Amino acid sequence: MTDNNNLIVYCEYEDGKVADVSLELLTKGRVLADRLGVKLEAVIIGDKLADIEKQVLPYGVDTVYKVEDKRLYPYTSNPHSAVLINLFKEIKPQICLMGATCIGRDLGPRVSSCLHSGLTADCTALEIGDHKDPKTGKEYTDLLYQIRPAFGGNIVATIVNPDCRPQMATVREGVMKKEIKDADYKGEIINLDADKYVKPEDFVVEIIDRHIEKSKTNIKNSPIIVAGGYGVGSKEGFDLLFDLANTLGGEVGASRAAVDAGFVEHDRQIGQTGVTVRPKLYIACGISGQIQHIAGMQESSIIISINNDPNAPINTIADYVITGNVEDIVPKLIKYYKKNSK
Ligand SMILES: Cc1cc2nc3c(=O)[nH]c(=O)nc-3n(C[C@H](O)[C@H](O)[C@H](O)COP(=O)(O)OP(=O)(O)OC[C@H]3O[C@@H](n4cnc5c(N)ncnc54)[C@H](O)[C@@H]3O)c2cc1C
Repeated sequence: MTDNNNLIVYCEYEDGKVADVSLELLTKGRVLADRLGVKLEAVIIGDKLADIEKQVLPYGVDTVYKVEDKRLYPYTSNPHSAVLINLFKEIKPQICLMGATCIGRDLGPRVSSCLHSGLTADCTALEIGDHKDPKTGKEYTDLLYQIRPAFGGNIVATIVNPDCRPQMATVREGVMKKEIKDADYKGEIINLDADKYVKPEDFVVEIIDRHIEKSKTNIKNSPIIVAGGYGVGSKEGFDLLFDLANTLGGEVGASRAAVDAGFVEHDRQIGQTGVTVRPKLYIACGISGQIQHIAGMQESSIIISINNDPNAPINTIADYVITGNVEDIVPKLIKYYKKNSK
């Protein structure tokens, strides 16, 4: 294989299903690859991979590298790192994207440090653009802009990696949209021999037993989210939000301040260090709208803010603002919704 200068996505999979975050990255990867005029590639490493390409090709993948071996599933650090490192030495992609999941956070730094490339974790946007080095005056074209909040969310930084390849970035689930390009998209399948990429000693860790705790909430896929902030005031205050969410057929989300105060569990946290959501309706109750929260919900189709401060920052991105106390407004919403939907 020769230098291909393409864009490659490491696809995670579990129980025969490619992870949503990988499909989201393929969707974004297709757009970036078109902008660069290169191919979009996917690498899938594991066991029982027959037909797995059917899940990724519709996202516009031109080449699928499959590395199948029963020792490669479930994921362990050394073998998967070895495959990527040795494959990237051969095919020299210009960009590699992976999910900012437990696996991506383990794998990404191992691969980038071994290849002496750069890695930006938890990007919230990816674009292609030019760069001029202010010190040397050297100009670069078509670099990957790796965009993410920095310094505690006080700035949004655009990070570039001008000289080293691949330019690597991780992105959390839900940040990018997942969109099929063409159900019949045709790509090339390349089966690779695991033994060519992984040394026997890399298989030193054997997984004997695995317990996976499934998330109890499903806010990511809920079309309606009633989210509460510190202004909700207490656990009991959140009971009202659960009532509203149940009435509307939605889920309850929360700001970090509400989670830190112990009003609700952490898996409901929305924002930079929580879940990213894009529901049809987002009702923000007693949430001020700091950038770290907004980062996780600003793509919602309709935003309603309920806040007793008419100047709360969240009101500037809300479609509708209700000024008042959560404890007064929410019972009225429940009452009138029930009355009008009979
Ligand atoms: C690195 C980093 C990561 C972070 N990650 C996240 C994240 O993922 N998600 C996140 O949410 N935050 C995150 N934060 C925290 C973020 O900066 C804010 O502190 C947090 O979002 C504030 O939560 P809040 O809006 O609920 O609380 P506050 O800012 O205290 O706002 C409470 C709001 O409630 C209103 N209010 C008060 N009483 C009532 C009432 N009775 N009725 C109606 N309104 C009322 C007030 O007017 C105010 O607007 C992060 C911070 C850092 C530094």
